[in-house]
This record gives sequence, C-alpha cells and structure tokens, in this order.
Amino acid sequence: MSTENTSDQLFNSSVKILTDLIAFKTISGEDNSSLIHYCDEILKKLGATSFKTFDDEKKRVNLFATLKAKHPSNKKPIILSGHTDVVPVSKGWSTDPFVATIKNDKLFGRGACDMKGFIACTLAFAPVYSKANLDRDIHFSYTFDEETACIGAPILIEELKKRGVKDGICIIGEPTNMKIIDAHKGCYEYTTYFEGLAGHSSAPHKGVSAVEYASRYVNKLIELREKLKERSPKNSIFDPPHSTLSIGGIFGGIAHNVIADKCHVNWETRPVVKEDGVFLNAELDKYANEVLLTDMKKVFPNSSITKKIIGEVTGFDRDKKSNACELVSNLTGDNTREVVSFGTEAGLFQEIGISTVVCGPGSIEQAHKIDEFIVLDELKKCLSLLNGIKGQSISN
Ligand SMILES: [Zn+2]
Repeated sequence: MSTENTSDQLFNSSVKILTDLIAFKTISGEDNSSLIHYCDEILKKLGATSFKTFDDEKKRVNLFATLKAKHPSNKKPIILSGHTDVVPVSKGWSTDPFVATIKNDKLFGRGACDMKGFIACTLAFAPVYSKANLDRDIHFSYTFDEETACIGAPILIEELKKRGVKDGICIIGEPTNMKIIDAHKGCYEYTTYFEGLAGHSSAPHKGVSAVEYASRYVNKLIELREKLKERSPKNSIFDPPHSTLSIGGIFGGIAHNVIADKCHVNWETRPVVKEDGVFLNAELDKYANEVLLTDMKKVFPNSSITKKIIGEVTGFDRDKKSNACELVSNLTGDNTREVVSFGTEAGLFQEIGISTVVCGPGSIEQAHKIDEFIVLDELKKCLSLLNGIKGQSISN
C-alpha cells in the first residue's frame, strides 16, 4: 500500500467518524453516553483497555482508553484529550447542525471544530497505533461538560491520580489551527446571593435591603479589582497583564417602595496566577462575613450571604521547558508559543504533573457560532501530527 493511499484512507475515515460524532447531540449537561460507547467500541476492537468515570446521575461519562506499549520504554505516555460536549445551537443555521455537511473545502456541523474534529482524527488514527510497535502507552481521554466550566475533567483527573497516572505528555486538541498554545488565564465564575428582610420603604431601618448590601459587595469587588492590578506579575505574558474581574449582573428588588429581601450578583475573575484567586476570595469573604453580614444580622438574624461557585477553570501556566510543546514543535516545525483568552482543561492535567499543550485542528473563530465548520485540510494536518507522534513512539 502506498503512503498516499494510506493517508487518503485515514482522512476519509476521519471524515466518516466526524460525521458520526456530530450526529450525537452531546450538548453540555446532556447525556453523552451513546457517543462515549461509540468511541469505546472503536478503541476496544483495536485492543485498548478503558475505564469510565461518571457524573452523579451516571448519564454523563468520561472515557479514558489506553493502547498499551508493546515494548515498554522509559518514554512518557501520550494523552490525546478532547471534550465531547458541544455548546447549544441557536436558530439561523444554513444546514442541520447535527448532520455533517461538506461544502467545498469545509465540513459544517455543531462541534466540527470545537472539538469533535480532533476526536475524529484520534479515532481514525488509532488503528495505526494499534498495529505499531509502540514503545509507550497512548491514551485517549474524552471528557464531558468542558463548555460549562470544565465539570467532567476534574472527575477523570481524580481517578487518574488514584491510578497513579501523573506523568506524561498531554495534547488537548482544542481548535488552534494546529498552533501551539501554552498558557491561558483561569476563569472563575460565581453568583453571590443576598437575603435580607422585606419591608415598607418608608421605614428602611426595619428592613434589610438585599440590594443595598449587594451594592456594597459590588463596590468591594471593584476596590479589589484595583488591588489585582497592583499584583500584576512582572513580565506577564497576558493581555491585560493582571488578573481581571468583572460584574456580569445585579438582580434584585420588586418596586420603588419595597425594601428588597433578595438580590444576587453574577461576577467572574480571570486570575493570571492561582494566588490572585485565593487572595481575592479571602478578602471578599472576610468583608462579606465580618462587615456586611454582621450589619445585616443586627436587624434580621436570619439574613444571609451565600457565594456559589459556578465554575473554577484552572489557569494554564507557561512552562519554558515543556516536553509537550517540544514534542509538538519538533513534529510541526513551528516553534511559536501563543496564549489565548479562552479556558481549557489544560490546567487540570498540568496540575497533576502532566506536561500539556493545547494544539488542534480548526479555528476558535468558528467555535460556538452559527454554521460552525472545520476546514478539511485541518484534519489532514492533525492526522499528520498524529503520524509524527507514531514516529516518536515506536522502537527501532
Ligand atoms: Zn472546546
């Protein structure tokens, strides 16, 4: 068989698999078990071993499958990682978002680039790995609910820790046009709920206005935002260089003449270093409990302030001696390193000692949008990276 035929076959296979994957409506928060079953079956037939981890209701699943080394060496295992969920679709698509449609050089469908394209490439290439004389393990990691603040991956990471998988090289195939991304800020989202005591506006001293306490809380956030600027690390690689903070909304109150008993504030912070997140939360919680809540309780003992974590996506820190970046650079010939403004699961893998890089087919420009697509040539580039990894994973 000529090389050209083989690469054509691999490409056709990746398109076929991508078509199948797009047909599974794996919107974040919904059941993704059929898709996981599909992936698991492909890999099992090739001799992979696997385990699954679940959410509490057992309807959302992470899969971690392994093609074992035939000739184990001291090379670090490779983890090919992608999330299986997609963002919801809104009206206005030119094609059915869950039916892959090829037009010219593009394949349209929800998840085409973010990030079923990468998963399809890894599954299409898996038969080649299974036949090769691998001298290191190749893992396939497919998670759920990345788009909703990385809910699935931490469950998988816990299991990896238990199983002693804490070393390796992880490639997260988020759409980067196959460019190397080696850092991003964290993204922490919160909603803080205030409950006071309703009353007539003519007697403010007899009620506890949740709206007024929420406003003081927001003022504190804005004050702390200035402190975050002062904490900006030297030589920060990010734009802006410091941790940011933003108030997304304040919701409360029913009428001009009623003291509002309920109010909540949506806010988020994007820390450049973890310590900023810790600092911010500590200062804020202290103020909320020691100042605001104390005052509220003087009038109404059952007053409360509750901060709910919506999601805390760990930041991904630049590692100047990253094995993962070096591996990908050597294979693609591209030595550039970029940072992005979106969050990924990279920080979670990095946290347990796995060298991680974000690099995958397609562009983030098309992600989360109407008429999401992937340029077919990107799949070819990704397959060629996977082929390079094979070259680095066989004994001579
Ligand atoms: Zn994504």
